[in-house]
Amino acid sequence: MLDQDIINQISEIVGQQWLLFGDAIKEKYTHDQTEDLTALPLAVVIPSNTEEIAAIVKICAANQLPIVVRGGGSGLAGAAIPLTNGIVLSMERFDQILDIDRANMQVRTQAGVITEVLQNAVAEHGLLYPVDPAGRGWSYIGGNVATNAGGLRAVAYGCTRENALALKAVTGTGEIIETGARTLKNSTGYDLTRLLVGSEGTLAIVTEVTLKLIAPPKKQVLMFVGFADAQNACSAVARIFQEGIQPTACEFIERSALEFSISYLDETFQLPEASQAFLMIELSANLQAAIDHDAEQVAKLLEQFDPSDILLADTATEQARLWRIRSNVGHAAKINNVYKEEDTVVPRAQLPQLLKHVKAVGERYGFRSICYGHAGDGNLHVNILRDDLDDQTWQYELPRAIREIFEETVRLGGTISGEHGIGSVQTPYLDIALSTHERLLMSGVKQAFDPHNILNPRRAI
Ligand SMILES: Cc1cc2nc3c(=O)[nH]c(=O)nc-3n(C[C@H](O)[C@H](O)[C@H](O)COP(=O)(O)OP(=O)(O)OC[C@H]3O[C@@H](n4cnc5c(N)ncnc54)[C@H](O)[C@@H]3O)c2cc1C
Repeated sequence: MLDQDIINQISEIVGQQWLLFGDAIKEKYTHDQTEDLTALPLAVVIPSNTEEIAAIVKICAANQLPIVVRGGGSGLAGAAIPLTNGIVLSMERFDQILDIDRANMQVRTQAGVITEVLQNAVAEHGLLYPVDPAGRGWSYIGGNVATNAGGLRAVAYGCTRENALALKAVTGTGEIIETGARTLKNSTGYDLTRLLVGSEGTLAIVTEVTLKLIAPPKKQVLMFVGFADAQNACSAVARIFQEGIQPTACEFIERSALEFSISYLDETFQLPEASQAFLMIELSANLQAAIDHDAEQVAKLLEQFDPSDILLADTATEQARLWRIRSNVGHAAKINNVYKEEDTVVPRAQLPQLLKHVKAVGERYGFRSICYGHAGDGNLHVNILRDDLDDQTWQYELPRAIREIFEETVRLGGTISGEHGIGSVQTPYLDIALSTHERLLMSGVKQAFDPHNILNPRRAI
């Protein structure tokens, strides 16, 4: 319940103009990028520093008022949608990069900095923040932390969790904590940094983040390989790694997914006629000779998988063009059609079996899917298109199909979300991936951080 007394208290902390109600609540605060889901919050509060957040959380805790933290609102699991009759706390004013430490190759940043802005800022210092989610243009670093965002280059450099060294955050009781240290190793107690990464705003509100940086590789080539048979494309992925080659990106994309993006971008890029699926394999090194060697090896071993076309993009312009098409696949599909996006992940050699199963389930239930994703990680995004499915099928039958897909994913040794999180849309399927006892342990962690259950409560395990 949000009464006048609470409004006055919060307003005193942030200033009246940073507390929005009714018509003043912009449409963007009612949704993220998940399907067509929306919900109106009771209010939107836009604080400017950690102490303000701590004070707001204390008021909400005393009044059992739910808080949904909002980063860039690019989430695909419905985690930032205010489904709980509470307030949205937007991190948009936490937009300062605090320190780029070239000597130690680290950056300390506020949580509301847009991922791409941070990438560009460190690049000006000759450094690379290698976590590269395709939604980089609108996601915040804090949102990346909260979802353990992965993306195109996680296969070589890890997800956000592997790159976050330290955090400042506010727990559900309004305590300010600082986790981790600015060191590359740390054996001091439980690893609260890694625990908070991926906790989707259910344990604490992250306000500051220290991230590892690397020196960017000097040379890169991008192989764009077409296959007449999507199964062959998937099967080739594990072989590349078995050969001792470590690509810095290894993406699988069905033709239909690329067609959405090409048409959305009004691109003139021509996909080779015979190819139904593609791999994008990025090789990086400091020496051209090393790249040439790896590219030759990859081309040779791909022969076993009957590729229909191999394009070698060796200029930055060509590579950027192809990556732009790849990065816009999800957005283009969304503009074209309402869809449910599943974020399945399996050990990479099981990818062909997963794809086969997804298509078989689609045929049985009568839906069309476009599949693409970070194949080097075994991460397959399955976009189930609504097309002209009626409400009954979309709401009641499709969940059964998704359950079948997830059950097979787990049977193959995988899990139900590789990088998008559980949010609100995957909660009904958690039992497939986690045992009752594991969920009980997680509830205990939630209780320790957020005893009043006010932080993103619907997402609680
Ligand atoms: C076109 C497109 C492409 C994408 N590509 C990728 C990809 O390649 N890889 C990938 O991993 N994801 C991808 N995503 C998903 C999305 O961009 C990521 O999940 C991203 O990390 C979400 O960040 P955000 O700031 O937008 O968070 P939001 O959507 O605002 O929030 C997501 C969750 O994080 C919580 N949260 C946000 N900020 C904080 C904070 N400061 N403290 C605590 N909790 C917080 C929210 O409460 C919510 O639970 C893509 C999305 C789109 C639309």
